[in-house]
Amino acid sequence: MAKIRGAVVVDIEGCKGCGVCTVACPAKVLALAKEVNGKGYNYAYMQNPEACIGCESCAIVCPDGVITVYKVKVD
Ligand code: SF4
Ligand code: SF4
Repeated sequence: MAKIRGAVVVDIEGCKGCGVCTVACPAKVLALAKEVNGKGYNYAYMQNPEACIGCESCAIVCPDGVITVYKVKVD
């Protein structure tokens, strides 16, 4: 049976680098990039994509709603 994993897309230019999502993730998937976006903020990205369980906690806590969580099938 195919397993379901999560895939997170961050709107990089909308992210203000607050880090709330990195703390909220139970699987320690997200981290703040060393690079900055156009506004000078270290944006969130999937440092550990394999571990994402698609729980959407990150999307729920993001104060700016810039995270979208997709469910993907993995064999
Ligand atoms: S969906 Fe859940 S497991 Fe995946 S990055 Fe967000 S908080 Fe972490
Ligand atoms: S919670 Fe939202 S604004 Fe804050 S770092 Fe994560 S994606 Fe960026």
